[in-house]
Amino acid sequence: MPGKSLNCFASFAIAIPLYRVFDYSIEEHQQVLVGTRYRLPFGQGSRTGLLLATHNSASVQRDRIKAADECLDQLPVLSEHLIALATWMSDYYLQPIGEVLFQCLPRYLRTARHEKPVRVKYWRANTLELELRETIEKRSPRQHQILLAIEQSSCGLNASQLKAVNSNWHGLVRSLEAKKAIRWEWSKPQSTTTTLENLPELNREQADAFSQMESNFGRFSVHLLDGITGSGKTEVYFRLIQNQLDQHRQVIYLVPEIGLTSQLVERVRHRFGEQFAISHSALTERQQYEAWERFRQGEVTIMLGTRSSLFSQSARLGLIIIDEEHDASYKQEDGIRYHARDVAIKRAQMLDIPILLGSATPSLESLNNCQREHYYWYRLSQRPTRYEPPRIQLIDTRNVRKEHGCSPYLLQRIDHHLGQDNQVLLYLNRRGFAPVIMCHECGWQSICRYCDARLTLHQSLNRLLCHHCGFAQPVPSACGECDNTDIRHYGIGTEQLEQGMKKRFPNYPVLRIDRDSITSRDDFARKMGALRQGGPCLLIGTQMIAKGHDYPAITMSAILDADQALFSASYRASERLVQTAFQVSGRSGRGDQAGEAYLQTDFPDHPLMQALANQDYRKIADTITRERKMLGFPPYARVVMFRADALSLRQATEKLDEIKHCLAASTTRHQVKCIGPIPALMTRRIGRYRAQLCLIGPDTHKLRSVLRESMPAIESIKSTQKVKWVVDVDALDL
Ligand SMILES: [Zn+2]
Ligand SMILES: [Zn+2]
Repeated sequence: MPGKSLNCFASFAIAIPLYRVFDYSIEEHQQVLVGTRYRLPFGQGSRTGLLLATHNSASVQRDRIKAADECLDQLPVLSEHLIALATWMSDYYLQPIGEVLFQCLPRYLRTARHEKPVRVKYWRANTLELELRETIEKRSPRQHQILLAIEQSSCGLNASQLKAVNSNWHGLVRSLEAKKAIRWEWSKPQSTTTTLENLPELNREQADAFSQMESNFGRFSVHLLDGITGSGKTEVYFRLIQNQLDQHRQVIYLVPEIGLTSQLVERVRHRFGEQFAISHSALTERQQYEAWERFRQGEVTIMLGTRSSLFSQSARLGLIIIDEEHDASYKQEDGIRYHARDVAIKRAQMLDIPILLGSATPSLESLNNCQREHYYWYRLSQRPTRYEPPRIQLIDTRNVRKEHGCSPYLLQRIDHHLGQDNQVLLYLNRRGFAPVIMCHECGWQSICRYCDARLTLHQSLNRLLCHHCGFAQPVPSACGECDNTDIRHYGIGTEQLEQGMKKRFPNYPVLRIDRDSITSRDDFARKMGALRQGGPCLLIGTQMIAKGHDYPAITMSAILDADQALFSASYRASERLVQTAFQVSGRSGRGDQAGEAYLQTDFPDHPLMQALANQDYRKIADTITRERKMLGFPPYARVVMFRADALSLRQATEKLDEIKHCLAASTTRHQVKCIGPIPALMTRRIGRYRAQLCLIGPDTHKLRSVLRESMPAIESIKSTQKVKWVVDVDALDL
């Protein structure tokens, strides 16, 4: 980009919730680059601004314009392409441009920090005496694990890579250094090319998908890899990544928030050596910045990360992959609201490159785009092993006495599978001991002081917890209403299920995986490691276990309680239930034995349950899609939601009434439905009352026209600490 030196005014974006940019003067001798950050005087203090454009005349009077302070960067931190993408996001999602632009930067650069050259420490292994190696192996298995990981990498491991092995890596590395087993050096890793021997052979479907995609590459195109669990989608991704690397192109590979497990990282490392950087929210700001910088400089060719890694800068991006594209964690629900899948498609379009979405249970939106032939559609319907994913069998739990949440038949099946030295997965998406505490006398229930939600009993903590705001209180000894001491708990959570199963199956290990029992990535990796070693085991877990992991020894899976989804007020509940059911049932039978999958329900005759028992995902998706079409819901309509929260419901509603007033003329003219304001489903949350106003319409253009006409007036309605409002375009829930 050529430097410009004659202009003396520039517009800057600043990360504040205002829908405008700010003009400052810059000294004429400076080299001025779009996309660099400046320290700017702002109000009484200073702010960081991103330079967007230069011009010869200022928007305000010359004598009132302030001068920008120092420039913080030598090179742009945002490319013109990313600035254009952010500008599109700001326009499409109706979010303030400054906030969107800074959201596209790694956190480390969002404040007035100077860029630092990335100089990363790499630990390498020394040649070890046999005796020392044996001592480490015997006395300290965790040090041994680190040592092995370092030895296996061709050019050493850096801090974030070591952290992926063990989050307490610091102490372990220090001990290994003291023993002279390892040493560190400042260096950039050489890009290693691994010799690819014994690549897994592609089956016919995989090979067809791969070659068709390959022939469509080199221009903008959206591809959906719609493959049953265990059908080898990852292998297809890997071939396409290799294909890009051969052409010296970079790849962004996005996974859901909890999909970035050591299992996937190990697979990527095994295949591509150290050619990748990892970025996710558990890393420090500095580590995220390092990953971003290494990718930007082309030192690594693959960016493997969660949602925000989409904004990684690259001069030669060739492909974007979005794994588990249906996953809700791609939608950012706070701060800047956007959907990473949809923004990724826009980015691919702007760069004229292909994008690949993958899932065993694609979103209805993506399936709809395939049916309308907007996307290329590839189906993988076979597993490389002999066994198909099991069909879901319903267990009718009406008139059945459950023991620890399990029907007698289910217990019998668990017993059978464990007896065959196999592993069993029980899915219960409710943590804690029991979800309801009630007075047996008057029916009083323990409700959170700050939310419209019941408190959950956590017996191990001897406390009642709110899962929405974190409020905790001791377990009451008497009813809050009538002082009766006969307080009982109802329902079952994973903590109780674990205890029950330990009692019922004392001779088998029982592993629980949920947010209470897993506090770090290591815990998770350790339990997964134990499972993968094989041997009979009963695994209990919440949605943390439902995705992306491969457990070859699981031969049976069961969903214990799915009935609440049948009566949810959310129109997406049935789609989510079906996706979960297929993800969970797909965990079993992936090894060399056939699997079984069960679902307990009190409503076996419900059409959705019947559909689950008899059909495949695509048929059910068709049924749900038809329902949505009839009701006029997405994907047949777009939804824009205005949400407000305040210390009283009245204040929240009044704010939305103001917004509705601004919309009124336009909605009438374009015949777009405006529903509300109404109280949100969960009206009180974390001490604040919430209400919403919904614009819904089948015609995107009309909806956009309404917003274009009304937003200038709406933007002037202040969002304050007392009464906050936000707009959520393509809201996932009504
Ligand atoms: Zn009572
Ligand atoms: Zn609460």
